[in-house]
Amino acid sequence: MKLKYLGTAAAEGIPAVFCNCPLCKRARELGGRDFRSRAQTLINDDLLIDFGPDTYWHVCRYGLDLAKIRTLLITHAHEDHYSPAELDYRNRPFAYLSGDKECDDADFPTLDIYLSKGAYDYAPAKFYHENVLLPGAMTFHRARAFQPFTAGKYTVTPLTANHWPDHEALNYLISDGGSTLLYAHDTGLFPQGTLDWFKENKPRLDFVSFDCTGMASGHDTGGGHHMNLYRNKITREQLLEFGCATEKTVWCCNHFSHNGKSTHDELVKIMAKDGFLVSYDGMEAEF
Ligand SMILES: [Zn+2]
Ligand SMILES: [Zn+2]
Ligand SMILES: [Zn+2]
Repeated sequence: MKLKYLGTAAAEGIPAVFCNCPLCKRARELGGRDFRSRAQTLINDDLLIDFGPDTYWHVCRYGLDLAKIRTLLITHAHEDHYSPAELDYRNRPFAYLSGDKECDDADFPTLDIYLSKGAYDYAPAKFYHENVLLPGAMTFHRARAFQPFTAGKYTVTPLTANHWPDHEALNYLISDGGSTLLYAHDTGLFPQGTLDWFKENKPRLDFVSFDCTGMASGHDTGGGHHMNLYRNKITREQLLEFGCATEKTVWCCNHFSHNGKSTHDELVKIMAKDGFLVSYDGMEAEF
């Protein structure tokens, strides 16, 4: 499986939109890996995780062809992960998927979109332009925790996240038959139901992408439905103890907030000691 982090920041981005804190000022000076757009990840070239406000920037920066995407997984409806108005632009007259204006794209494969409860509840009705939706252009599916589904060559298992419980935010376990990714954004320490599921099912995890909104904090900052290095270490121990991970499993921290106060290089120095990779926009991994 190939993974590409398109964006690696929490909701406000780094530098944050209106912010002049020391980290945001340094990020503006340093650029490069210290520019973090909102979280979004591409798997191979046909599965996309989340559809936030920086999707258009990612299309431009990486030269993406989103018409190739067959499966879109939405973790939850927070605005950094889901901008439903942008989905309008997969329809005519905003998009000619096959490249041929004369053909009506009726035979073009649908985009299967799997959404958490909160995102699904208002997704299909929220198109901002009337009469643009082609029959079958997009198909919306409600994803439910612990109910695996097949999407193309992928087996996807949604898991309950410790995040926005009323909206049933999800993390995703994604397998392409060869390898398995755990994409754990956004979440705090895993809820008991998710821990029990791992204990019982014991998937072999090749790559784990953790919510690390609080960055390198070495103690429990308490509250909140996010993680930091301290909580990532606890969760890694749990997954190892359940037999879901081995010494070959790759652990990567992602979804960073400026409130964590560290530049990319500072994070790498701290995280490497504990065996965690630090994501950056454009980072690729194959496993
Ligand atoms: Zn987020
Ligand atoms: Zn800031
Ligand atoms: Zn969130």
